[in-house]
Amino acid sequence: MTALRQLRLLTPLSRGCFEVRATDLLGRVGRLYTKSGVLETPALLPVVHPVNQEIDLRVIGKIGFKAVMTNAYITLKRIGEEASQRGIHSVIGFDGIVMTDSGGYQVLEYGELDIKPAEMTIFQEEIGSDIAVVLDRPTGFSRNRAFAEHTVKETLKAAKETIATKKMKDILWVGPIQGGLFADLVVESAREMSSLPFDLHALGSPTEVMKSYHFKHLVKMIVAAKTNIPLNRPLHLFGAGHPLTMPLAVALGCDLFDSASYILYAKDDRYLTPTGTLKLDEVVELTCTCPICTQHTLSELRALERAERIKLLAIHNLYLLQSEIKQIRQAIIEGRLWEIVAIKARSHPRLWSAYEDLTKYTKLLEDGTPLFKSRAIYIFTKEDLRRPEVYRAVAKIKKDYRPKNKGVLIIFSLPSEERLLATPFCRRLLEREGEDQHLLYLSPVYRLIPIELSEIYPLSQTLYPSSIHRNLSTKILHREIRRAIEEGGYKQIIIVCLNEHLHTKLAALSRRLNIKLLDYCKRRASGQIEAAEEVQRLISSAS
Ligand SMILES: [Zn+2]
Repeated sequence: MTALRQLRLLTPLSRGCFEVRATDLLGRVGRLYTKSGVLETPALLPVVHPVNQEIDLRVIGKIGFKAVMTNAYITLKRIGEEASQRGIHSVIGFDGIVMTDSGGYQVLEYGELDIKPAEMTIFQEEIGSDIAVVLDRPTGFSRNRAFAEHTVKETLKAAKETIATKKMKDILWVGPIQGGLFADLVVESAREMSSLPFDLHALGSPTEVMKSYHFKHLVKMIVAAKTNIPLNRPLHLFGAGHPLTMPLAVALGCDLFDSASYILYAKDDRYLTPTGTLKLDEVVELTCTCPICTQHTLSELRALERAERIKLLAIHNLYLLQSEIKQIRQAIIEGRLWEIVAIKARSHPRLWSAYEDLTKYTKLLEDGTPLFKSRAIYIFTKEDLRRPEVYRAVAKIKKDYRPKNKGVLIIFSLPSEERLLATPFCRRLLEREGEDQHLLYLSPVYRLIPIELSEIYPLSQTLYPSSIHRNLSTKILHREIRRAIEEGGYKQIIIVCLNEHLHTKLAALSRRLNIKLLDYCKRRASGQIEAAEEVQRLISSAS
């Protein structure tokens, strides 16, 4: 049993415990226990301003957000005393879960901060944060390695100071991971942070990476962090709550997001959609079904006073983000996270490049992918052929399967995917009990499937268009068929072509390997039965 699967069996014992209920790829549906309630993950925390918040927190709560993030540094500077006395929940007017960012991002924007990590630790305890962040030094999008090293070192120093200072047991502390574009520094930062007793980790600061559409960097950064922190600690991705990238980030193991985008976009008259933003001028139809979009017409929205328009747009944006995160949770439970990532990837070519990179981590993604799913898996593109389910099945057949039968080897293709045992070709051949024959199906997805394994998940629960057969290159066919022949020591070998896409390749291979080819792919309906009968005649005449 892998560590991730073992983790699922854990039950919540105390605050800070992260209970994983379902996984797909590295995505997890979980529950994070805090002193102000349970947070279902993956979750997005809207960023709220401690003083000038434009959208009422009660509205945010009603939309379904159980947690928000606010800035502890601004709170300290603007209303420090009041917040210490009344607590952050009362000050911002939210009775759910409050995560406080320490203000590290302000360092990124304005240079130095006039506060020490220990002071920030004490302040976050005083105001009663549920989830608190170490005063970190964000690397940002810097390409200066010396600076990046400096931020990693300083953040670690601050983390140690926080651990030494903190007193309260009921606050969850976040160990920030820096390093930015330098993957080796992210690895180092993640390892050092993991050695300290934090409840969660957070990866900074992908905001710049996102703004510039460098999604490939995002993949690298997340993998570097995720593979170097303990599985039982949730991973937060700072400032990256965007509909385009959340599925990809979740697939790579991110559990929490925060984002101020809902209000920033609204102030820029931008309307969030599942595939990106539109300027309100460009919107032709309000395609969303949230209360804002169903109770107002487009011209009403456009005609509103600016302040009111910002408010309504922001509320719509929040509804959209909430719906996106719910879809991700649903997809994990259904085992369809891969499909959602692939669909999103079509929103932008750079996102597609990042999705292509995801396929390099198939082995890693396999760890969280359930052995059995209740749904068929779908294959559309060559990227889908790198799905962890496929990778796992191909590797397993190669590693564990050895044919028992040493008689006749029959390698066959079929016109389309169907249950192999139910095809006329296989039924006819298998109805004669005790035949000394071994049937291997040429699958465009799984290469060679021994007929006796064909009903095992996911071999018979994989659906694809027949054009996928073109992906079986001559090179792959040659290698797979040679391997099967060499392993078996058969006395007779027959290749049967029942798929037009493979006709030319199989004909060439049969000549090259000097193997008998029965070509029935051009015949309709009765072709399979005729092919099976021909195979039987060949077997009889040889014995
Ligand atoms: Zn809407």
